[in-house]
Amino acid sequence: MSASSRKSAGVPGLRIAALIVAAGRGSRAVRPDDSTPKQYAMLGGAPVLWRTIQAFQAAAEITHIQVVIHQDDADLYRNCAPVGAAKLWPPVPGGPTRQASVRLGLEALAGVAPDAVLIHDAARPFIGADTIADIARSLRTHPAALAALPVSDTLKRANSNGAVAETIDREGLWRAQTPQGFHFDAILKAHRDAATAGRDDFTDDAAVAEWAGIVTTLVEGSERNAKITTTEDLAMAERLLAANDTMMESRSASGFDVHRFTAGDHVWLGGVKIPHTASLEGHSDADVALHALTDALLGSIGDGDIGQHFPPSDPQWKGAASIRFLQDAARRVWARGGRIVNVDVTILAEAPKVGPHRAAMQAAIGAALKLSTDRIGVKATTTEGLGFTGRREGIAAMATATVMLPASLGSSGA
Ligand code: MG
Repeated sequence: MSASSRKSAGVPGLRIAALIVAAGRGSRAVRPDDSTPKQYAMLGGAPVLWRTIQAFQAAAEITHIQVVIHQDDADLYRNCAPVGAAKLWPPVPGGPTRQASVRLGLEALAGVAPDAVLIHDAARPFIGADTIADIARSLRTHPAALAALPVSDTLKRANSNGAVAETIDREGLWRAQTPQGFHFDAILKAHRDAATAGRDDFTDDAAVAEWAGIVTTLVEGSERNAKITTTEDLAMAERLLAANDTMMESRSASGFDVHRFTAGDHVWLGGVKIPHTASLEGHSDADVALHALTDALLGSIGDGDIGQHFPPSDPQWKGAASIRFLQDAARRVWARGGRIVNVDVTILAEAPKVGPHRAAMQAAIGAALKLSTDRIGVKATTTEGLGFTGRREGIAAMATATVMLPASLGSSGA
């Protein structure tokens, strides 16, 4: 793969493979009348594994997908390759344990030699694009990253009579999910070393990494990314899917902002500090592009505007980094059960030039909104010397945002 095509991936410069572990037999049958392994059970008209592969196929960060299957499942697998799954490699047979299957999958990927690998359970079909992006981003600065959720239930240890023996402090406890992401060479070596040492008892890859001394960072996962293990899990997944298909609605909204120039030597634009012959005047860092984006997101949920949530009269926002305002708007969308689909901003200015900073702006906005860069438009135009921007009196920015929200009954007025 050439350097330029590498750059087109969601995480610039990193080739990230997905290794999907589908070799398990499962001790708990999904349906009492059916011995089909759970990763091949039908869910909303498609096999669970199809949905899992599709999620990684759609993720801009992922460059290769390797699936490990049970040697007897070649026929079952045939339905599981999504149409046009260009990144998907032929499946390889697994081993007697999950750990052995992962190692065999890693060995199969060794020829591709990706920079990193995200190892994922086939039975987690609702893996979100945001979680994949979070882990991929984390691997730029950390050797390993694990999707996990903080434990919120109170934990009890039972004695042999089924009575409570003690209550366990849940402080600092997390539930491990997948994907679990690693720098490829390090996790391949860890798995080989574990096999050589006769250790075949690790229940996940983060445990293999821990044994090998690799520090794994926690990335907050999602309750939706649950593992389908039982009939009840599958029924719940069917309901989730049905609700998603019929009850989401798309919302689009716009934002606009202007800041005037004042004396200074830099501007903040799109979350990036850019040296310039003037600065923008404002109570916060005056990042006109992020202010327009923030208003577009707030507009999509009808939740006022940036001035209402962060009033200039409030001293706590003096000099504030506007990325905080954008993050707040994103959290307001998420709190409604919403998902940001894409955002787009146009900066109107004679100078400074935006092009050299576009990738950094996309990275800053992507980190705040948990979006891959192909969902973040950053554009700029001069106004041909016309108007206040043409006279270099200030910078304007306009933005749009599209979000998917659960449709509340009657809200459309239909
Ligand atoms: Mg503003």
